Amino acid sequence: MSLTDALNRPLRDLRLSVTDRCNFRCVYCMPKEVFGPDYKFLDRSQVLTFEEIARLARVFVGHGVRKIRITGGEPLVRRELHKLIAMLAEIPDLDLTLTTNGALLAQQARALKEAGLKRVTVSLDSLDESVFRAMNDVDFPVAKVLEGMEAAADAGLWPIKVNMVVKRGMNEQSILPMARYFREKCYILRFIEYMDVGSTNGWRMDDVVSAAEIVRLIDAEMPLEPMSPNHVGEVAERWRYKDGSGEIGGVASVTQPFCRDCNRARLSAEGKLYTCLFALNGFDFRPLMRGGASDDELSAAIASVWRVRADRYSEIRSEGTIALPKVEMSHIGG
Ligand code: SAM
Ligand code: SF4
Ligand code: SF4
Repeated sequence: MSLTDALNRPLRDLRLSVTDRCNFRCVYCMPKEVFGPDYKFLDRSQVLTFEEIARLARVFVGHGVRKIRITGGEPLVRRELHKLIAMLAEIPDLDLTLTTNGALLAQQARALKEAGLKRVTVSLDSLDESVFRAMNDVDFPVAKVLEGMEAAADAGLWPIKVNMVVKRGMNEQSILPMARYFREKCYILRFIEYMDVGSTNGWRMDDVVSAAEIVRLIDAEMPLEPMSPNHVGEVAERWRYKDGSGEIGGVASVTQPFCRDCNRARLSAEGKLYTCLFALNGFDFRPLMRGGASDDELSAAIASVWRVRADRYSEIRSEGTIALPKVEMSHIGG
């Protein structure tokens, strides 16, 4: 048992953001008014190198991390990402996955698989062109994302998961068409409740469509039954179609918080460790690493951050917490 296990909720899951940049401007994540041409993204020198990321990842694995998800911003805009995947894939017994908006997936799927990536999750909020374009806000077509998913499936990055954020008044009408389409494809569709991450998306509780409401809607047309979780700390609740034609998931982080079992750490592209999606500050590993710290010193720093962790934002969400400043989702990757 590692020191982090003994002292707090175990650390099992690490999200590695490889860039704060993105080729989309999703209205719920990087609204254009804020993330416009004048927005100051991280400079290249501020972003961890692949070698630095892989070294830190190994130290995290020493603390019990069993799953690493590469994210961003949009991870596939980071040049030669497959080289990082190859470095991480050398770590034994690691579940190595990636979340992407799919825009650049068709070109990269095979190289990612060959480098050792196991699976991908692709975000898509609607099959309807006008709804999707209104949500990604850069005029990107649905067909290209679907092409990326096909390429990933062909490359063996299986099963494909699809993340759909539902925002009231924008894409509730897309829920059933998405469920029908991805059931047919045997991809696992996961509905994500719209969250009050960051300080820029103008979140209101009224805009949240609960996972329970979504499940009721689908169940009425395509009967569902609950499935048991794969493991403690799994964030998505799972349901299967009663006719055996596949499963869906719901991430009810707003209406049914799961902080108690949260075993996930997030490392931003510049090397800051956040112990909660809704935190404001993270512990900065970059000066330590660039100042010559040993692996033991990095490991001790992780333990010292994790053992005092008492995060439970979603359990105490209120009118008062919504306005608190928080790190942006595009900075730490969801
Ligand atoms: N760019 C990649 C993508 O979109 O898949 C990876 C990073 S993105 C921040 C990771 C996930 O966070 C995506 O599935 C996205 O839909 C989700 N997300 C972003 N903002 C959100 C919000 N306000 N509420 C819920 N989910 C959100
Ligand atoms: Fe980019 Fe992903 Fe955020 Fe959309 S959700 S703006 S694709 S980082
Ligand atoms: Fe984990 Fe923070 Fe989300 Fe709670 S609010 S589940 S502690 S990331």
